[in-house]
Amino acid sequence: MMPYRQKNARGSFKPHLAVKFRSEEGNLRSFFIDSTRVAAKYPQPDAYLITHAHSDHHGSSAMLSECSICTEKTMNALEVRHSRNFKGNLAGENGFIDYGGVKIRTYPTHHTDGSVAFGWENENGMRILATGDVKDASNLPSCDVLITEANYGDPADLSCYFEDDLEGFYAALKSPQDVAFGAYPFGKAQRVVRLIRQSGYEGPIGMDDKSQELTQNLLEDAGELVSMDAGAGVNVVSPGKLEELPLYMSKYMITGRRDHRFPSINISDHLDASGLEKMVLDIDPEFVVVYHPAGHRPSRFACHLNTLGYDAVCLADINNVVSNEFM
Ligand SMILES: [Zn+2]
Repeated sequence: MMPYRQKNARGSFKPHLAVKFRSEEGNLRSFFIDSTRVAAKYPQPDAYLITHAHSDHHGSSAMLSECSICTEKTMNALEVRHSRNFKGNLAGENGFIDYGGVKIRTYPTHHTDGSVAFGWENENGMRILATGDVKDASNLPSCDVLITEANYGDPADLSCYFEDDLEGFYAALKSPQDVAFGAYPFGKAQRVVRLIRQSGYEGPIGMDDKSQELTQNLLEDAGELVSMDAGAGVNVVSPGKLEELPLYMSKYMITGRRDHRFPSINISDHLDASGLEKMVLDIDPEFVVVYHPAGHRPSRFACHLNTLGYDAVCLADINNVVSNEFM
């Protein structure tokens, strides 16, 4: 299996990673992971794997290719967010898709609704797993080559260690005042609505239009969702809309960051540095490629894995580069 990076026509790297391998039948295959499309005039990869619908994973581009693969919920989220029709192929959230002679398995990563890791084998039985972002790694299998993230992967950075403040969240929810939580419309808003329903609250939840549409599409048991100006006692709205709600409401931001004018409650969509390390130890791969996000955290995490005895690299270490003209 060869990990490589693709350059675009302007000579800069396309986001994220591609891998070439021979399928069980011996055919050469190339899979792009969370990448934008290659221009139609150039040879196309065999598949674009879209792990989830956050914009820094480039599903808005890949969804327009007939060889893209994602889950139904990721498709729904992409279609609502980008007002485009998905043209690719669907895989179950804990299932498999037989694609071009490769059996690709999917494993939920609990990062957003519909988020999955993709796993497959090459002709020699080498097991490859590409995770996308991960909140809970308990469904991920062992593998030989792990392609993974490091959003909070710098072991020397104290802000990479955190726990969900569920106690703080439920205390805010149960306070006698009307309450509003600021949460990003895709991912975080659905996590917050799920937590509210799990607490036993069955009343209406006020939401802005985009958050409501996404939540209605993605959660089977969202309960009654109403407009944010309907006067609901519990509200989940985009961060920028918090200020539009009445002054008497208690307002909180659901985020790990501390730079908002409203008090924040940490409910994360990610593993922290300890969780990422435990994930790798549990999966116990021969080789790790840290492919996301941009910035220094992937190289810090890869270095840390090296000190733990793992062969690990980040994108900056990958010298296999393919320009469009050579594909
Ligand atoms: Zn994400």
